[in-house]
Amino acid sequence: MKFKHLSFFFEKIEETASRLVITEYLADLFKEIAPEQIDKTVYLLQGRIRPSFESLEFGVAEKTVVKSILSAFNLEKKLFDSEYRISGDIGKTAEKFKKEIMSLEEKDLSIDEVYRDFYRLATSSGNGSQEVKINILAHLLRQSDPLSCRYLVRIPLGIMRLGFSDMTVLDALSWMIKGDKSLRPVIEKAYHVRPDLGFIARTIKEKGVDGLNKIGPEVFTPIIMMRAERLSSGQEIVDKIGRCAVEPKYDGFRLQVHYKNDQVKLYSRNLEEVSYMYPDIIEGVKKEVGAKEIVFEGEAVGFDPKTEAFLPFQETVQRKRKYDIESKAKEIPLKLFAFELLYKDGENLVGIPYDERRKKLEKSLEVSGKISQDTILLAPGELTDEGPKIELLFDEAIAKGLEGIIAKKLDGIYQPGARGWNWIKFKRSYSSKIDDTIDCLVMGYDVGKGKRAGFGIGAFLVGVYDTQYDRYVTVAKIGTGLTDEEWQEIRKRCDKIRTDDTKGYEVDKMMSVDVWVKPSLVVEIKADEITKSPVHTAGRSNKNSSGLALRFPRLVRFRDDKNPQETTTLTELEEMFAKQNR
Ligand code: ATP
Repeated sequence: MKFKHLSFFFEKIEETASRLVITEYLADLFKEIAPEQIDKTVYLLQGRIRPSFESLEFGVAEKTVVKSILSAFNLEKKLFDSEYRISGDIGKTAEKFKKEIMSLEEKDLSIDEVYRDFYRLATSSGNGSQEVKINILAHLLRQSDPLSCRYLVRIPLGIMRLGFSDMTVLDALSWMIKGDKSLRPVIEKAYHVRPDLGFIARTIKEKGVDGLNKIGPEVFTPIIMMRAERLSSGQEIVDKIGRCAVEPKYDGFRLQVHYKNDQVKLYSRNLEEVSYMYPDIIEGVKKEVGAKEIVFEGEAVGFDPKTEAFLPFQETVQRKRKYDIESKAKEIPLKLFAFELLYKDGENLVGIPYDERRKKLEKSLEVSGKISQDTILLAPGELTDEGPKIELLFDEAIAKGLEGIIAKKLDGIYQPGARGWNWIKFKRSYSSKIDDTIDCLVMGYDVGKGKRAGFGIGAFLVGVYDTQYDRYVTVAKIGTGLTDEEWQEIRKRCDKIRTDDTKGYEVDKMMSVDVWVKPSLVVEIKADEITKSPVHTAGRSNKNSSGLALRFPRLVRFRDDKNPQETTTLTELEEMFAKQNR
């Protein structure tokens, strides 16, 4: 397929807000495209070159893209700026200038040619690379028609304005084959093990949906992590899953460890590769794990070598940094409590029962068992079928300053990407009617008045993910309870992701904000209660009905380890509301 033709699809998708229509357009596109082009196309649709867990970025700022446009069309910056100011859209500005210019170089580029050039652009680094990037994009613009220029400019900036997520792509793959969404669960299951949309699309195109059956874990492709359901007493847990293994719930950060050919890669909850941050864990894995190839998970917790005590989250989190990594690693060494084994030496373990996985995990660690010596420790698990015993273990965990416990069903499989009853978390409830915190997306903020005018932020709007419609709905506007530092931090982070594109946000007029931000920043919120509210859109069926809102919301922490779609879902919020009122 030619890139020009792909741009027609981009335009059609951009012009509609209907999820269903977008799904149909994508399905038409996938039907038409050749198998060897579909993976590249899927990445381009997302403004990327490779799946997001491979941190290959274009590495261009808007300034660089503007330079490409100026060079391609031989434009004065002033002229470009005045036009850009009017439209506010860099893609459409490039398109407009291209319409006015006759170019002798115009060619009908194929998707492969465009992809190849973008790949070159993304991988060029070092001295003089900005110049190379400017030239590659300028050359592409000179060779392309006006509509293609709109998207050629947007792709490297990652601002496609198409307004859909991975889930809609999965629906569209189902639609391509069946003309409905009925295959989405099968496709999604494979995607949870191999969250590489390009790879999934190509497998389906080449081998049909049956081709997905053979998909298993692949070292260096992170598996979407399993999550736990919630209950709030030992008895409830036993009633639900019977005899179980009770493990402490450590409060650090979760890492998925991949090891092969003496190379270790670490992935965070949102599948970002974070290996460079944790040299001590990398060393620990190389020395203390006995396998040729392995994928396992654990919780990394800070450790005080002097007192041999584990550190609270607020201290452990200092290890999440881009600079001074080695010195911080000496000051706050980490211990990794291994709790799950997913793959070892060619064997896919995701589908076998917990107790078998656990035995294999125990055998995989070649450690002394001494906390002061090992980096990788085995999370202790105690077997029980008695509610009071679970309560006791819970109290012990709390007394040690931990968050609570996680009970694991003995014959439960590991369910990638799912929140399931095979794991149940039992956490300390916070003086409130709801027994868990709520992870929310920051959608925008109001500029401050009065006391906080100096910070430039007075309140921020948060929402949760509505899986059914692939959109975000609001639950609170938070204007109190943050420290001065937190206000400054949230403002700084929001300003980096400002946008005027609110496609995918469902917000009541009353809750509109001064500055909108892209779906990116996730915060953990503590609230006293979930209430009904006419001005919030979570679960609201129309303008005259009520949605759900958080009462007395407070910021607990930033959740950089979560993707926007991993916020609490609307369904979970509705369940919490029902439970609270029971
Ligand atoms: P929370 O905010 O309650 O930590 P979450 O949304 O981050 O929840 P959940 O799946 O709901 O994630 O809770 C499980 C989290 O607990 C895991 O992601 C992991 O980071 C952490 N954890 C700590 N100890 C364990 C353990 N022994 N087994 C599994 N997960 C553990």
